[in-house]
Amino acid sequence: MNKSINYSSYFTEWGIIAGPCSAESELQVLETAAFLKQQGVVILRAGVWKPRTNPEDWQGPGDVAMEWLKKAKQKSQIAVATEVKDEHTFQVAVEAGVDVLWVGSRNAQNFSLLEYIGKATKVTKQTIILKRAMSASLVEWLGAARYITRYNPHVVLCERGVRGYSPDTRNILDLQTAYLAKMQSGLPVIVDVSHAAGRTDLIIPMARAVKAAGFNGLMVEVHPDPKNARTDSLQQIDFGTFSLLSTSLALVPAV
Ligand code: PEP
Ligand code: MN
Repeated sequence: MNKSINYSSYFTEWGIIAGPCSAESELQVLETAAFLKQQGVVILRAGVWKPRTNPEDWQGPGDVAMEWLKKAKQKSQIAVATEVKDEHTFQVAVEAGVDVLWVGSRNAQNFSLLEYIGKATKVTKQTIILKRAMSASLVEWLGAARYITRYNPHVVLCERGVRGYSPDTRNILDLQTAYLAKMQSGLPVIVDVSHAAGRTDLIIPMARAVKAAGFNGLMVEVHPDPKNARTDSLQQIDFGTFSLLSTSLALVPAV
């Protein structure tokens, strides 16, 4: 792992972290990494240990996918990120040289995990993306962040929508609270438009709104063949749509 790079700086102004909801095969990871690198994406995301609602559901590829991420880094010279859900997955990811780790919404108030990650990255200062828990208030989200920042300041907050009333979208994209989080914490705040929308037709307009508002970046799910994705197939965009997104975002100034 290149410990000298501070990946939080990718989000000082505007950066994009993109990739599949789940790593599904070596080919899928390598293909997506190569495409996104060529599109100027700074970090490849891929879920490896998926926190699923039902235990019968596919739980992600697990440890084997570390090799796929390592190859993607080498071949495409792109930073890689994955979700860690406990101490074991954290250790495996760090050992494998995963550059950026994120804590997902379901674990975003798991204080012992957050404190563990804070302490474990106190020296390395590895960048940690902390998503907003699905019903966290501003105070709760910022409080969760402090479990890490009191040891390691390199935290990037990620708004991913909150539970609310709208049968037409997966979550409510709460840019208001997300912007308050940015102002009050001084941390970079990025927005995961995919988990907020839960559908592909809102990705480009919401991403444009996020950039225009002055957030620090975007998280977006991209898959070579979304229809056949093993998780979140309705919200992942294909490569063609990502190209349209890039072109469209280029016209929006970063604040
Ligand atoms: C994900 O990013 O794939 C994910 C599970 O998101 P969230 O934790 O925001 O639901
Ligand atoms: Mn997903």
